[in-house]
Amino acid sequence: PVPQVAIVGRPNVGKSSVFNWLARRRLAIVDNFEGVTRDRMTTLIESDDQFFELVDTGGMGVEDADDLTSDVRRQIDMAIASADVILLVVDVQTGLMPLDEEVVERLRGVERPVILVANKADQEHQDIHADEFRKLGRGHLITVSTTQNRHRDDLIQVIVDRL
Ligand code: GDP
Ligand code: MG
Repeated sequence: PVPQVAIVGRPNVGKSSVFNWLARRRLAIVDNFEGVTRDRMTTLIESDDQFFELVDTGGMGVEDADDLTSDVRRQIDMAIASADVILLVVDVQTGLMPLDEEVVERLRGVERPVILVANKADQEHQDIHADEFRKLGRGHLITVSTTQNRHRDDLIQVIVDRL
């Protein structure tokens, strides 16, 4: 079977953006009717004959920015259940937030490799701000920007190395 790579993180860090960016797709999330949640989006990604299935399991537009909603918990639990590698997305512009720690807490005991994807490092000078996420004590740290297309190849390489 194709290895699975799941994207987790608190709301608004850019999980769906990372999904679209790695998939080179404009749109992963379409028609968002209120109250309707699709469980997951998946896409097959290939790099140098290595395939993996990327999974964005975030709630579609129903994530609550202040709380880890049941959607986000389910997303993390699904990652725990089925992923071979976990992408834990955080936001260098907001910095470390209590909800990031909550996500890490839910990942405790999970032995699958975790990659800490510090997103929104739109400019090189912002890379340094990712250092504070080392406090989370979890995962190989890599800075990226989906909007500025920074470090996409590096991220794919880090993923493939862990499959
Ligand atoms: P999700 O809730 O974690 O799935 O986050 P989204 O992918 O929906 O993105 C949340 C917001 O962050 C959107 O307004 C995105 O445009 C923005 N965003 C995503 N990636 C970046 C980035 O690399 N830089 C900046 N500045 N904004 C980003
Ligand atoms: Mg999303």
